[in-house]
Formats: sequence, C-alpha cells, structure tokens
Amino acid sequence: MRIGTYINSLIEQAMSKAFEDPQFSFELALEAQQVAIELNLEVERGKALFQMAYACRVMSKHSEGLNYAFKALEIMKKEQHIQGIYRAKNIIGIIYFYYGDLTDALENFMSALDLVSETNDINLKTSILNNIGEVYREAGEYEKARVYYEQALSLALELDLKFNASAIYLNIGEVLYQEGKFEESNVFLEKGYLIVLDENRLLEQGEAETKIGRAFVAQGKYIAAKETFLSALDKLKSVNNKYYMVDLLMEMADLDVAVGLSPLRNLNEALDLSILSGIEKKIVKIYENISFYYEKKGDYKSALEYYKNFHLKQSELEASNLSKRLEILSVEFNYYKEKSENLKFKKLSEKLERDIDTYNKTLENVKAQNQSLLKESLYDELTEVYNRRGLEVSYQDLFTTMDEILGSVFIIDIDRFKNFNDTWGHVKGDECLKKITESLNKNISQGILARFGGEEFVVITQLKTLSEATNFAQQLRKSIESESIQAEKNADKVVTISIGGYLGKLTKDNLMKHIEEADKELYIAKENGRNCISVREEAK
Ligand code: GH3
Ligand code: MG
Ligand code: MG
Repeated sequence: MRIGTYINSLIEQAMSKAFEDPQFSFELALEAQQVAIELNLEVERGKALFQMAYACRVMSKHSEGLNYAFKALEIMKKEQHIQGIYRAKNIIGIIYFYYGDLTDALENFMSALDLVSETNDINLKTSILNNIGEVYREAGEYEKARVYYEQALSLALELDLKFNASAIYLNIGEVLYQEGKFEESNVFLEKGYLIVLDENRLLEQGEAETKIGRAFVAQGKYIAAKETFLSALDKLKSVNNKYYMVDLLMEMADLDVAVGLSPLRNLNEALDLSILSGIEKKIVKIYENISFYYEKKGDYKSALEYYKNFHLKQSELEASNLSKRLEILSVEFNYYKEKSENLKFKKLSEKLERDIDTYNKTLENVKAQNQSLLKESLYDELTEVYNRRGLEVSYQDLFTTMDEILGSVFIIDIDRFKNFNDTWGHVKGDECLKKITESLNKNISQGILARFGGEEFVVITQLKTLSEATNFAQQLRKSIESESIQAEKNADKVVTISIGGYLGKLTKDNLMKHIEEADKELYIAKENGRNCISVREEAK
C-alpha cells in the first residue's frame, strides 16, 4: 500500500511538472513505471506511461511520445480503465494533430469523447471538445469548429473552469478572425483576455494581446494595434517566451508594412530569435517575408538572396518533417503488428503510400525551384541579357528537334570603348553598355543575344544566306550609330560597333568554333577602320 502511494505521488509530481520541466517530469514518470513493473501494478504502469507520453509531447519528441501513448492505451484497454483509455486517446489525437494527420487526430478525439461523455470528467471533456474544434479549424471548417468550441465553452463556464474558458474564447476569436468577422472576433478575444488578466498570467496575456493587435491591424486601427503589440512585447519579454515573441514580431512587421514603414527591423529580430531557438518553421516564413519585401521595393538582388535562403531552409524543413512522419508510421506499424489488426494495417499502408506521394511532390517542387534559381543566374546582371551560361543553355535548346541548323553567328564589339571609359568614367560606361544592349535587343526579334564578356556580345540567328546575314549585321551597326551616344568631349564622334559574322552549319558542339570564325571576321572589320562589318560563309 505504501509502495502504491509512492508510485502515485511520483505520477502526480510528474503531472504537475510536465510543462515547467518536462525532462524532470519524464524521469519521475519513468521511475514510477519501473516500480510499477516490479510490483505488477498494471494500471499504475499505464498512468506512468501516459505521463511519459505527455512529457515527450511537451518536449516535441512526438514519435517517442506516440510509442508510450500506444503502450498506455494497450494496458488501459486490458484493465478496462475508462479514464486511462480516453486520456491515452486524447494524447494520441494531439500528436496526430501536431503532424497534420487530421483524420487520425479526429478519430481518436471522437472516440475519447464518446468515452468521456459517460463520466463526470468535465474538465477533460471540455479539453477534448476544444481539441475537436481545433481539428476542424485547421481543416478550414470554421462552422463545425465553432459548434465544438461552443459546447466546450458552455461546459467550462458552467463549472467555472476559468482557464479552459479563456483558451476557448481565444480559439473562437481566432476562427472568427479567419472568417473575416473582425468585430465579433474582438469580442471573444477580449473575453478570453479579461480572464487571463484576472488570473495574472503574463504568457497568455501576451498571446491574447498579439491576436487582438492583429485583429486591429486587419481593421485598419493602427494606433490601437501598435499599443497592444507593445504591451504584449513587454509581457512576453518578461516571461522570455521566444515562440510567442517571434509570432508577435512578425505581426508587428505586418503593421509596419500596413503603415508604410520598413518591416526589416522586426523581421530581423524575429529571425535572430528563431535561429537562436531553432524554430525552423518560422525561419522559413521570415526569409520568405523579407524576400517578398525586397521584391516589392524593386531590390531584386536582395530579394533573390533571401529567396535562396528561404528555398534552402524550406527544403530542409520538408525533408525533416517527412522523416518525422515516417518515424511515426513505423511506431504505428510496430503497434498494430503486435496486435495484428488487419484493418489498421491496410490503412497504414495507404498512409505510407500517401506519404511517399507527398515526398515525391516535395522533390518535384525542389527541382522546379532549383530550376528557377538556375534561370536567374543565366542572365547578366548589368544588361539583363543572357550571360555565357545563358548563351550555352539557350543554344542547346535549338537542338531539341534538329541535330543540325544552318545559321549565323555574330560577334559584336564596341569600338574604342576604352576611350569612352577614359573620357566619361566607368559609371557612364556601364550606362552606355545598357543602352547598346537595349538597342540591339530591339533589332533582334528572332535569335539569341548574349553578353559574351566585357563590351562584347554574341548573336545567333537562323539567317540562312550570306546576303540576309550581311543586311542584318549592317542594320545592327546602323542602329547603334543612330543612337548618337557622344563618344568624346568637344567632338561630334558617336559610339559605334564593329561586327564579325559567320554563316554555316550549327550543331550541338560547334558553337565555339563558329564564334572563333566570327571573331576572325571581327578582326578584319576592326582593321578596316571600325564601325563596319565583315561576314563570311562556311566553305561548301
Ligand atoms: P577596340 O575594340 O575598338 O579595338 O577598342 P576597345 O577600347 O574597345 O578595346 P579593348 O578590348 O582594348 O577595351 C575594351 C574596354 O572595355 C576595356 C574596358 O575598360 C571596357 N569594359 C569592358 N567591360 C566593361 C564594363 O562592364 N563596364 C565598363 N564601363 N567598361 C567595360
Ligand atoms: Mg573587346
Ligand atoms: Mg572594343
């Protein structure tokens, strides 16, 4: 008897420490479990296992938690211990919920609800009803969510379970917010808020104020939002909860954007905190928001930088989520294998297939995103036409249906460009390069234009006769001349180009050879006094 009391006091202590110090809570429960095994006390063992599962959940060790919860459930079923069964099902539901497996979450919550309804355990009944509301909210079924929340709320109010009631008020407020019913949402948020204010719970106050402030932003009440956010920040800082602080800073950044300020300070602070605490989901979101902000500002370079970080982190996150899900699947497999429940087995293999499907889709996404990142680096930053890599890639694209094409390759070089730079400086030189590229671009409706390096460009067209190729080159040369970009001070000399062209059979691997031949013609054009062209045809 005294030993039984000892176990129960361990379990009670474990329960009271679960949130504050989950590791310690776990150790107490583990100790209780070992003593229970030695003494063959099955119900106590089940309770200890439940407490171990609970501590694991708080520590985000979900597959481990699920393992203990399944064991607890098994024991409680054998012992026909109703409370043990619905509590185990509730925690199993919570773990599934956490992993986005809403179907299994709902199934466990519903079955727990059936059992708890026959008891007087109102406290747990409100929790389970609230959890069901959460599943529906997550699934976007807001009306159903509210039905369950409201049932939970009326029970909580009836029994004066203040703390439950406040959480439910906040949840209802959240759903109303999602539905765009901001005013109604505020009423519920305020009610939940008043309770936690009364109970002097700083963390919950900060959480509620964050949500209330967000509703203010949505309604354009920016001054009220700012005040509410600042008060929330104070409270969350004093209890040092990094998770809620990150959420809050992100809301504050949204407020910045809404009033036309830069959100970067708040986003960067949120980013630092998330990195410090390893809140991967938020890191991904913050990178995305920063990238989006730069993009809207027209700073594409920074936008790309942050987009790359976003993309990298997201792939990491997806891979690790998936491996966690697979861990859970293997826990389930082991559990049902021992029990040889055939129907469950079938369901599991369907689930596995779904997960593999998700995995493949993730892979495809990553590939597509990589492709788009690659695309960015196919362009020259200054002139925004293809760079050398872009030239190579788009050249290869010509040969998807044909192995050989009759076409012309041109190499274009700005005349005396060193002089231009010496006269006007490099900044003007860059501007000149851009202008020339624009002009070339306008005159090349079909074909590839690339900056080959420095002040040299390559053009590839499918012009098939010497006279066509010659006319085309002349037209390009004239178009630059007629831009009338002043080349020297105190003189009316304008910037000109010289062009070398080579017409012949193009294949996948002979681009460089054609460029070399065109370069020889360019040399001739330069020798002939510049601002002229020279085009030659491959010997037949
Ligand atoms: P020519 O081709 O007519 O023989 O004379 P050039 O002066 O153009 O020939 P060269 O190849 O000797 O010099 C090319 C110059 O182009 C050198 C460099 O100052 C300038 N240049 C190359 N790339 C850039 C660039 O990205 N920006 C600027 N501003 N200048 C560049
Ligand atoms: Mg040159
Ligand atoms: Mg030159």
